[in-house]
Amino acid sequence: MKEQVNRKVDGGNCCSTNTVPVQIDFSVKEESRLPVVVVGAGPVGLAAAAHLAKSGEKFLVLESGKSVGSNILQWGHVRLFSPWQYNVDKVARELLEKHGWDAPSPDELPTGKELVEHYLEKVANLPEIQPSIHLNSKVLSISKKGLDKMKSVNRENVPFILYVDQNGVTERIEAKAVIDATGTWGQPNPVNADGVWTREELSLQSHIHYGIPDINGKDREKYLGKRVAVIGGGHSAINTILELSQLNADNSNEIVWILRKNKVEEAYGGQEKDELEARGELGVRIHQLVDSGKVKVYTPYRVQTVLKEANSLKIIGEFKGESLSIDGVDKLIVNTGSRPDFTFLNEVRLRIDSATESIEALAPLIDPNLHSCGTVRAHGERELRQPEKDFYIAGMKSYGRAPTFLMATGYEQVRSIVAYLTGDYESAKRVELDLPETGVCSANLTPIKQEQSCCDTTSNF
Ligand SMILES: Cc1cc2nc3c(=O)[nH]c(=O)nc-3n(C[C@H](O)[C@H](O)[C@H](O)COP(=O)(O)OP(=O)(O)OC[C@H]3O[C@@H](n4cnc5c(N)ncnc54)[C@H](O)[C@@H]3O)c2cc1C
Repeated sequence: MKEQVNRKVDGGNCCSTNTVPVQIDFSVKEESRLPVVVVGAGPVGLAAAAHLAKSGEKFLVLESGKSVGSNILQWGHVRLFSPWQYNVDKVARELLEKHGWDAPSPDELPTGKELVEHYLEKVANLPEIQPSIHLNSKVLSISKKGLDKMKSVNRENVPFILYVDQNGVTERIEAKAVIDATGTWGQPNPVNADGVWTREELSLQSHIHYGIPDINGKDREKYLGKRVAVIGGGHSAINTILELSQLNADNSNEIVWILRKNKVEEAYGGQEKDELEARGELGVRIHQLVDSGKVKVYTPYRVQTVLKEANSLKIIGEFKGESLSIDGVDKLIVNTGSRPDFTFLNEVRLRIDSATESIEALAPLIDPNLHSCGTVRAHGERELRQPEKDFYIAGMKSYGRAPTFLMATGYEQVRSIVAYLTGDYESAKRVELDLPETGVCSANLTPIKQEQSCCDTTSNF
């Protein structure tokens, strides 16, 4: 926004002043001010960038990967269960459309790769955003300049300082505010049912796949004809097993599914009743596959550890309370969820829930121990506020270990945070979330305001 004002201009003589019209561009504030730093260029970090760009705020996005959407590209072959209409941030869309974006069809379900190629990369390449994106920039530590966590005097007025690994060199970057949108995908949970990383499992990292391998694509040969065990009871495990079943057309594969749940039926979720149709369909398909007898299910099974035996792996644990090892596993795929990384936030004052590791105020809204198919109140800056002023955790990481996060929730989080950081407190307080009808678990996609999905909270992606 440009505005013409009258400003006194020094005419060179200390005592003579002339009044002349001067153009001041209020959309670009002084260059000397510090940026808001967004850590992570996933969908939520990039949505934050779009909102910051729109508000004319100076910002940087630091992304550890060599491209934006790095975490999503690790499961790029997996199809999302929410259609495009819920996967695009409103302000990002506005900016994209201004530059002639060919928007995907709102009802289609993209794969992770399509989400990155048709949306995230386009956002990152917008002229309003591209100069502020720094790839190959891993944040190692965040602190307050000249102060450790203990020091309180003048803390709120001191800038943040980020230690950033950029191609092997540690840079120090100052910031007026920080939004941590680093997700949790990079920190998988272990196989161990107690949540502990055992020494044996750590020594077998190269033999275990954490996540969803591209079984019918580039990883096909690794799994073809093998006895494959999948550990986990959520959507990621279901996706993995369904992919394995497609590979197994000639029945040369053996598929073993290991879960902690009391009954395998608990993993099927809402099925036809799920408010996100594609997610419900996963439940229906896995139900049919298990009923067909093509998957050997062990549940409830509590894994203690995994050992290497000659050319195969041996899973040690308890099945229905009795010791039972599962031998001769050629390939092990672990889909036991993921957890947030707080190691680089040691010097930041945080309020984190002790059970879910989510932002403390979100815990009662998302705790899988309490919620099944209920409703979650939409939330924004106020709930996400930390004891460390102007520091926020947003996106998947804000939910901690809870697996029910949706991108649309993250977009609303960063809209509200950016509104607050740029002084629009009224807008920060408002809730502007449109999501499929929730709690009711109906199969249609009627948008409603104020509430968001938390269906099947016991599942992991
Ligand atoms: C298989 C799967 C399917 C899903 N399907 C859906 C769906 O259909 N609909 C839906 O709404 N949600 C879905 N989700 C959930 C969620 O919306 C996505 O996980 C989404 O990617 C979360 O976005 P994010 O920006 O919070 O984090 P991420 O996408 O994980 O992005 C975090 C970014 O931060 C970077 N990073 C990490 N650490 C650092 C560091 N120290 N310094 C700098 N950069 C760092 C990472 O490289 C990454 O690019 C799915 C999740 C999974 C795993």
